[in-house]
Amino acid sequence: MKVHINLLLVVFLIVAARCTQKTSSSSENENTTEASETYTMDDFKTMKKIDSHVHIYTEGTTIMDLARDYNFRLLDISVDVPSYPAVEKQVAIRAKHHADEPDLIAFSTAFTLTGWDSEDWADRVIDQLSKDFEKGANSVKIWKNIGMEAKDKDGNLIMIDDPKFDQVFKFIKDQGKVLLSHAGEPKNCWLPLDSMTVKNDYNYFKSHPQYHMYLHPELPSYEDQIKARDNMLAKNTDIPFVAVHMASLEWSVDEAAKFLDRFPNASLDLAERVSHTQYQSQQDREKVRNFFIKYQDRILYATDFGQKEETDLEDLKKYMMEVWLNDWAYFNTEEMVKVPQLDDPVKGLALPKQVVDKLYRTNAEKIFVNAWKEN
Ligand SMILES: [Zn+2]
Repeated sequence: MKVHINLLLVVFLIVAARCTQKTSSSSENENTTEASETYTMDDFKTMKKIDSHVHIYTEGTTIMDLARDYNFRLLDISVDVPSYPAVEKQVAIRAKHHADEPDLIAFSTAFTLTGWDSEDWADRVIDQLSKDFEKGANSVKIWKNIGMEAKDKDGNLIMIDDPKFDQVFKFIKDQGKVLLSHAGEPKNCWLPLDSMTVKNDYNYFKSHPQYHMYLHPELPSYEDQIKARDNMLAKNTDIPFVAVHMASLEWSVDEAAKFLDRFPNASLDLAERVSHTQYQSQQDREKVRNFFIKYQDRILYATDFGQKEETDLEDLKKYMMEVWLNDWAYFNTEEMVKVPQLDDPVKGLALPKQVVDKLYRTNAEKIFVNAWKEN
């Protein structure tokens, strides 16, 4: 979790100033979207929204409390990360949050590759998933350890298109649940640090050299990871599928468009990758804006906020407000938004209201059917 020190108040004041400037200048440019067709910063708090990608590893409710205050519902995602609590514990915590506040928070389960080489690995996973679905899980997350870390008994990396997974994916589909996939890494992961496009990748890979593939040329390439994911999807075209982190195609809206064209059942989430689209906006704003408009039914707003036992809660709250407000300014206004991951400010996309409604709420409601109970 990267924490930024901007105070909430300062963010609000900057944003308020942007809004005031906008009202007086919105007719200067032919391409300007009419003010009535876009949301303003004032709409942020009141509009009903969904953040489709957070991770709460504790009984603490800071993310949930702030989400409720700002009209967000949440999808809380389990992940099989070795240094995190075991998946079983994660699911127990998430199921409790979900039972306590079913209108606010839905959750995903995950599975491990423990015992991969045994005959009954898939049966045991299916048994666990069915119990997790009974507890309320609406989806299953697979993580980058598949393809980048986990090995079979012969020492080969286990790739996601391995036929052994197909029985599990079929079960998920037959149960009407959604598969969430974090495949590989951003393309920056295969580049030297000083060639990376955004600061969050630079900081992450600097502190996680084990995942910085530029340092591990013996491991599968970026293209290998994408190909394995696409092979798997080609075999499982009818599974409801969310490719998180912009399908690891965050570096090119053209590539993300090709992916969405090829796999009609797939959507993508924006978790921790808004900055990559902002980087592309700086090169060609219209192209990025057109991408969001053309694929308005296939994209989910998401952040990747995380809360663990040791998280500083004041820092977390400040960080959440900064990200939510910067993202809202970027998607809804034409103002120059200063974001921590880029040196230069980025001009907002001023997406039409109906596109923002889909990004921020209705796409998630359609994919995660009845995940949140209406109050
Ligand atoms: Zn995540």
